[in-house]
Amino acid sequence: EPDASPAILQGLNEAQQQAVLSTEGPLLIIAGPGSGKTRVITHRIAYLVEECGVNPWQILAVTFTNKAAREMRNRLDRLLLSRSEAVTMGTFHAVCSRILRRHGDRIGLNPNFTIYDQDDQIDAIKSSMQLADVDTKRFPPRAMLSRISAAKSTLQESRQMRESAYAAEDEYGANWIETCSRVYHYYEEALSRQNALDFDDLLMRTASLLKNVPEVRAQYHERYRYLLIDEFQDTNIAQYQLARLLTGTHQNLCVVGDPDQSIYSWRNADIRNILSFQSDYPDATVISLGENYRSTKNILQAASSVIAANTERIERPLFTGNPAGRPITLHEAYSADDEAAWAVDEVTRLTKTGEVRAGDCAIMYRINAQSRAFEDQCMRQGMPYRLVGGVRFYHRKEIKDAVSYLRVIYNPDDEVSLRRVINNPPRGIGAKTAQLLTRFSTDRGNTMLAAMQQIADARTEQLPCPISVTARAAKSIADLAITFQRLRDASRELAVADLLDRVLDMSGLARHIQADENSEDRWDNVQELRALAEEYGPSPQADGLGAFLERVSLVSDVDSYEQTDDALTLITLHQAKGLEFPVVMIAGMEEGLLPHSRSLDTIREIEEERRLCYVGMTRAMQRLYLLRAFSRPFPSSGGIPSRFLQDVPEELLASPALERPPGTRADTHPLNPSRPSRNEDAVIGGSWATSRRESRTRRGEAGEGTTGGATRGHLRGDIDEKLTEWVSSRPPRAPQPERIPLTVGEIVRHSVFGEGVVQDVQGVGDDEQVTVNFSSAGLKRLLVSLARLERG
Ligand code: ATP
Ligand code: MG
Repeated sequence: EPDASPAILQGLNEAQQQAVLSTEGPLLIIAGPGSGKTRVITHRIAYLVEECGVNPWQILAVTFTNKAAREMRNRLDRLLLSRSEAVTMGTFHAVCSRILRRHGDRIGLNPNFTIYDQDDQIDAIKSSMQLADVDTKRFPPRAMLSRISAAKSTLQESRQMRESAYAAEDEYGANWIETCSRVYHYYEEALSRQNALDFDDLLMRTASLLKNVPEVRAQYHERYRYLLIDEFQDTNIAQYQLARLLTGTHQNLCVVGDPDQSIYSWRNADIRNILSFQSDYPDATVISLGENYRSTKNILQAASSVIAANTERIERPLFTGNPAGRPITLHEAYSADDEAAWAVDEVTRLTKTGEVRAGDCAIMYRINAQSRAFEDQCMRQGMPYRLVGGVRFYHRKEIKDAVSYLRVIYNPDDEVSLRRVINNPPRGIGAKTAQLLTRFSTDRGNTMLAAMQQIADARTEQLPCPISVTARAAKSIADLAITFQRLRDASRELAVADLLDRVLDMSGLARHIQADENSEDRWDNVQELRALAEEYGPSPQADGLGAFLERVSLVSDVDSYEQTDDALTLITLHQAKGLEFPVVMIAGMEEGLLPHSRSLDTIREIEEERRLCYVGMTRAMQRLYLLRAFSRPFPSSGGIPSRFLQDVPEELLASPALERPPGTRADTHPLNPSRPSRNEDAVIGGSWATSRRESRTRRGEAGEGTTGGATRGHLRGDIDEKLTEWVSSRPPRAPQPERIPLTVGEIVRHSVFGEGVVQDVQGVGDDEQVTVNFSSAGLKRLLVSLARLERG
């Protein structure tokens, strides 16, 4: 038995210590937010290395983001005497990408593969739909892609998808699935021809490698003796299968999660993995951690009351030894701009008192579009801020262009990238020429770049051009082919940053960018990319270009975010997962925004929205603010307070609006009492907190259900009128006697969402669930019995 090192076990409670000490065999840690799950993983790794003599090289820790991996490594460095470098740490995608570069050849994969992002995928889906003769107007490529991705996340290949279509009970669903499976088939072929993988493929191919090549599997079993997975509740089926495949007979698999924080089912995360784990490893040690170290009692209690209203959950009590702290602040603003002004004012006020720094504060919201108002206010008030994921660096045109050149150099089969740069900067290779070129290459069974090379060869030998294009286009094609050849040769000797310089120069991209109006910004961005590239050496050594491109492809929004002392954080609720801040403000607590209108159709969706709200609230350590606005035209909400607000017990709330002298509230602006408010919404919502109190009493009499001390149901009083209006505009919930059988591709009308095209029809019990792409409201899933759809 190893000695318990004080350094590593210190600062852990008993349950946490037990989790750290249970080093052998399967271990499941299910515990609420702030209970130290991530801390346990870090300490467990340190304990394995320092106390059990495990070689760090034999440990694999999977985190949800690259940022989380980076942080875990930093913490580990502080705990370990030796360096943490040898521990493998990263997201499933990063780990898989590395495994495939090393061993992918065993399943016929070229190690120079490109990783396609969503834009690249859409491009590939569109051309696959063309080949499969599927109309992109009837079947939106995005819906197609997400159906295919859902199949992939359960390790389903196109063949299996087609079989599942035959097995589908109703022919309408079967039709849509069958169509998807056909496109999927062409998509698979396209990606394999281009030597490209999408994110799902990284998981799927690795699973297939480990399943089908026993020596490789044995090698990884030998290597990784300890596997740890954080945020297990947000893994998909493919990821869980991978974890199982990577776990050898030692079964040292430790998974850590919180079902109440599962917020990625829209990305096919499957909470059932926790159940599967328990049945796959019946001998697993199960530990729960009951003490929250992050939040004040008030915050914890408020959050617990909100989550308690979910029906699909197991109650798991959490307590904290922290002080009660301040009440939760509810601020009701008149508009989104007022909401933002108030929030930034409040941060300024807090920082002035010296209580906190701006960097301790975060404003969280449901959707990215909400950040605009906060950015404006920060700029107006001179408040430094960090917008997480807002500036999607790698999606900027100049960055994608430069990276696309590098991708083609690295993987000449990558046609999506080649098509992107073929006339970029403009060099007289129009769409028609590009099409001819594609046809010529597919007819010859060649890649596009090889076809271009043939045209170049024909020119050198003064033969006629093999495709009928203008002399100028032919010359441009030949020149570009030669440029790529030179760049490819250069890539073998040059460090990545120098190669990038050469690309910018030889492609004409540098001149093109500099001629642009916004050239300065765009050029700065390119230089930022170059700075990143400087970390990578020439290609032959350690595959610098490959490693660089991998990093660029796998980066997620939150990865490039660093918390700093002096800047306020603006972040979506999804991105805030796993993080903590002394001061948290959740903005837009309104029906239609949180819960989001896209997720109101099923109980399951609403429960996920509630979990999202819970994740946000539990990020707060000292102070929690819940904000809402009466009026919000864009991103729009009906101004109705979020149902989640009602689940926060009254006694935990303080509402600054109520501290005003009586009578000033409804007829003056809360931020500027001298300005009378003519805003109808404002008058309606002005005394929400009061009306809420009254309505509670009334509801109590009506005997409606209560959960966890919090009252549920809708508000009455002043805003009832507005609520009624809103509710009646929603699809009615009463079953409709006559139902219409719908077919995929059919045009339907909905009273609220307008006109749309049926994408999918699936039997649900004796009802049918249809997926409809509404031209203005987007994709919705509706039950036929409830939705009152009319044939368009
Ligand atoms: P989440 O579910 O939000 O990811 P978590 O369970 O992973 O939360 P951690 O982030 O590991 O929780 O811990 C929350 C906070 O509590 C951290 O600041 C951590 O350092 C602190 N903490 C955890 N355990 C202890 C402890 N035993 N003593 C003191 N502080 C602790
Ligand atoms: Mg955590």
